[in-house]
Amino acid sequence: MHPQRKQKLIRQPVYDLNVRPFMVIWETTMACDLACKHCRAEAIAERDPLSLTTDEGKMLLDQIEQFGKPRPLVILTGGDPFKRDDIFELVEYGTAIGLPLAVSPSGTPSLNRPNLQRLKDAGAKAISLSIDGSNPAIHDAFRGVDGSFDMTVSGWHDTLDVGLKVQLNTTVTRYNLYDLPNIFRLAQDVGVMTWSVFFLVPTGRGKVEDEITPQEYEDVMNWLYDAGKLLSVKTTEGHHYKRVVLQRTLLDRKGLDPVDVMRLGETYQRLYQHFLDVADFDNVREVTEDRTRRAPLHINAGNGFVFISRRGDVFPSGFMPVSAGNVRDIVLPDIYREAPLFRDLRNPAKLEGRCGACEFNKICGGSRSRAYAVSGNPLAEEPFCAYEPGSFAYHKELVTTVPSMAP
Ligand code: SF4
Repeated sequence: MHPQRKQKLIRQPVYDLNVRPFMVIWETTMACDLACKHCRAEAIAERDPLSLTTDEGKMLLDQIEQFGKPRPLVILTGGDPFKRDDIFELVEYGTAIGLPLAVSPSGTPSLNRPNLQRLKDAGAKAISLSIDGSNPAIHDAFRGVDGSFDMTVSGWHDTLDVGLKVQLNTTVTRYNLYDLPNIFRLAQDVGVMTWSVFFLVPTGRGKVEDEITPQEYEDVMNWLYDAGKLLSVKTTEGHHYKRVVLQRTLLDRKGLDPVDVMRLGETYQRLYQHFLDVADFDNVREVTEDRTRRAPLHINAGNGFVFISRRGDVFPSGFMPVSAGNVRDIVLPDIYREAPLFRDLRNPAKLEGRCGACEFNKICGGSRSRAYAVSGNPLAEEPFCAYEPGSFAYHKELVTTVPSMAP
């Protein structure tokens, strides 16, 4: 294999994730007019009076800036960030001190062209929007409010019209599993920078019974690899997708059938057949093959990723509500770099169960948030990964191809 191709199988950060995160998520408010079935924040209509104030929000942005260059990507989420009157002021402030900012609003009447234009003028780079069904019946049932689908799609068009990039987020549950190819086609038709497929973490309003099975995770992730040949796809809280991308890339190069080698099930076959029927094969995003199909960057809860709650508590992720400190008392870089929980989460030698024994753990490690949600132990094995460590026949070849997998 050509040595230059070896390097490109997986994206690596160009800096030390022990020192600075790649992404910082700030839950600006828990207020939201939707009532989503899987809401992590269990959002309600009213604002929490103990939320960070405008001045404290600016202090937090200053603390993020202290991580140094390259600056982390900052996502202002909620609840619905439009429920904060000062959201434009905060975006303007963060932009002025050099932070790249994106905003994650809800599909409500606030998601309108004037507000999106104000975000763009304040310096926001991108918007992330959630679509959990390809039609109002499926999406609105998820979101708990009639009309949310139409408002989101209308806001999606407006976002593109004002010149902001769109990341589309979709949460996979058993309610929309077989609608995924239709959502994919919608993303192709309207246009997205990235389709981020989120795998449910049973916390907040998300329930274990809403989850798909570990075999279905495997089938969906393998189908996403196929879909990623037409559209930029990434996963959230679906870390074993990185394993799947590496495995499938190797099988592609060898000309081997993934259904046999990866033991894919009926769900994969159904999704793939539906995908062949609905995908627009003339609409291929203009990115290089290597960029589209490289395994995503290895960031995980507390490892390249940090979440700040509306009250300033610092969590490894929004789905692991274990506070390692509060930005009202300790600056964020000190918490991120020094807190024992964060240090443990960045150490693959601490992983337990199958994740501890797995040859992919340095590039995957499983969802620490899901392990915590299911077992109460953030270092336990990923409960929704079907992989048996050592069972991939070509894993030794992968270890020599991907230097970061070496023991
Ligand atoms: S066993 Fe754990 S580390 Fe290995 S692929 Fe599955 S989730 Fe990733």
